Amino acid sequence: MTTILVVEDEESLRAPLVFNLQRDGYDVLEAEDGERALAAVAESMPDAILLDLMLPGISGTEVCRRIRQDSEVPIIMVTAKDDVVDRIVGLEIGADDYVTKPYSYRELLARIRAVMRRQERKPSEVEDDEDVLKVGPILVRVDRHEVEVHGELVHLPLREFELLELLIRNVNRVLTRTQIINLVWGPDYVGDTKTLDVHVKRLRSRIEEDAKRPKLLQTVRGLGYKMVDPDA
Ligand code: CA
Repeated sequence: MTTILVVEDEESLRAPLVFNLQRDGYDVLEAEDGERALAAVAESMPDAILLDLMLPGISGTEVCRRIRQDSEVPIIMVTAKDDVVDRIVGLEIGADDYVTKPYSYRELLARIRAVMRRQERKPSEVEDDEDVLKVGPILVRVDRHEVEVHGELVHLPLREFELLELLIRNVNRVLTRTQIINLVWGPDYVGDTKTLDVHVKRLRSRIEEDAKRPKLLQTVRGLGYKMVDPDA
């Protein structure tokens, strides 16, 4: 279960946020000031932290700085409208992102998911091997965001890259349309489901020899898509 620590001194802001996050299936820890936030981090390392900047006692920036001394946990700063300087400071001392009050819950959730996704992609410090994925003629260097097809560098826009990475990580497994949309666009995605087909089509034109008769990125009728390893 994903645990999110909400650091916010104003009860009227904290309570609905906690409610919404719990409703969406997150395990939520609450802290109303910096000291309690640091204690919560030390006790049970959360997966992400929403950190209000204006806190009584230890400031949000100081809390962020101290957490960063020994943790890479994703931190989203919550700032008031005109705290431009604090925002910059927040990012400089290691916050991953910030939202400005008043924010919508949706926006906040999207950012939490984005920073957590980025976090998952970060290479760990002990492992200096590059994250390289390979299927048939396709080679993906995840850390460098590079794709080669038959040894030629191919530029992919972000979503296509994410789609390709997802399919390759699940090579020879069928992914449903819903799974793909949830994982690449996020469960809050409300756009046209044709978006996925458009991206698949574009991706095929870059990786397949004949995009009309795909051998790698195959459609599984009535279900979704799968990446097939031609060498398997
Ligand atoms: Ca506050």
